[in-house]
Amino acid sequence: MSRVYNFGAGPAMLPVEVLQRAQEELLDWNGSGMSVFEVSHRSKGFQEMMATAELDLRDLLAVPANYQILFLTAPARAQSAMVPMNLLRGKTTADYLDTGTWSYMALQEGRRFCEAKVVCSSRENAYTTIPEVATWQLNPEAAFVHYCANETIHGIEFHDVPETGQVPLVTDMTSSFLSQPIDIAKYGLIYAGAQKNVGPAGLTIVIVREDLIGAASSTTPIVYDYKTQQENSSLYYTPASFSYYMAAIMFQWIKKQGGLVQMAERNQRKAEKLYAYIDSSDFYHSPVAHKDRSRMNVPFILADNTPDNTLDALFLREAQAAGLSQLKGHRLVGGMRASLYNAMPEAGVDALITLMQDFVTRNG
Ligand SMILES: *Cc1c(COP(=O)(O)O)cnc(C)c1O
Repeated sequence: MSRVYNFGAGPAMLPVEVLQRAQEELLDWNGSGMSVFEVSHRSKGFQEMMATAELDLRDLLAVPANYQILFLTAPARAQSAMVPMNLLRGKTTADYLDTGTWSYMALQEGRRFCEAKVVCSSRENAYTTIPEVATWQLNPEAAFVHYCANETIHGIEFHDVPETGQVPLVTDMTSSFLSQPIDIAKYGLIYAGAQKNVGPAGLTIVIVREDLIGAASSTTPIVYDYKTQQENSSLYYTPASFSYYMAAIMFQWIKKQGGLVQMAERNQRKAEKLYAYIDSSDFYHSPVAHKDRSRMNVPFILADNTPDNTLDALFLREAQAAGLSQLKGHRLVGGMRASLYNAMPEAGVDALITLMQDFVTRNG
């Protein structure tokens, strides 16, 4: 068996220990004589697993008592609709920061539900920076302010939490969730799809302040009302049980690593190392403004590339041969993208830098 270093942006790399545990428990989970995806989600065993998972997550993130954690079987993107359905609370307008593809898509969805106003946009700058706070136009009457904490495609990350006064702050944290501690109290609602830092796709985690639940618009389908999920301990419908189980054991893995402070230090070190090498080289180039660079997703462009991108193709072939997988950048940005989620060991980043150095000596 040969495992590669998987730099994919999502579905993303998972720790070998987590995968091995799933493998060991597959045929007989928790003494049930069944796999976890054959047992009833109403069974005591499954409910206990979810209760423990929630406690572990509360513990990892120090979630305040007045916040609910909901586990939803849905794409992360469904929250772009569920948030306005649940959080408009009779208001007709909401604010959106437009800093990359994901926040832009949330804005488009928001327009189906309300007057979605653009607070700021870096679309004209090809999403390579976050507009200066002084230029933002926040509306104190907005029902909420939506932003994307980490723009997975463009490699932009907010290193400060936006200040929105009394207006609840909502964030799509899909690609940076559990990569560092979060001050939950600054948010009205945080959502994250699992497939970047938490486990396989199929699960979206929502952490929401209690007072924001229970005022969904009257046309909100019952399954999409946060209140329904809260009242049913997130087991109203049949969950994507395997994804829930994987998230549960991933939380335990993060705790074993020392928790989010440790994860944050490790993630910081990995990203700094890679950016330092990119910045020291004339051959590789990061398109993103220094201050806004993501710790999770690092796009980089090869200089002197021919218009037909033969150098990119060569780089990707050599990377694959060296056991470095899924480095191709998103088509909107081009070049490469190295995603450095929790499961990526430092050795993976070292191996990438070694390949990049070696590639320059032969093709630079
Ligand atoms: C991957 C990603 C999504 C999309 O997740 P889906 O589950 O496919 O909807 C949304 N937001 C961000 C920031 C992402 O990285």
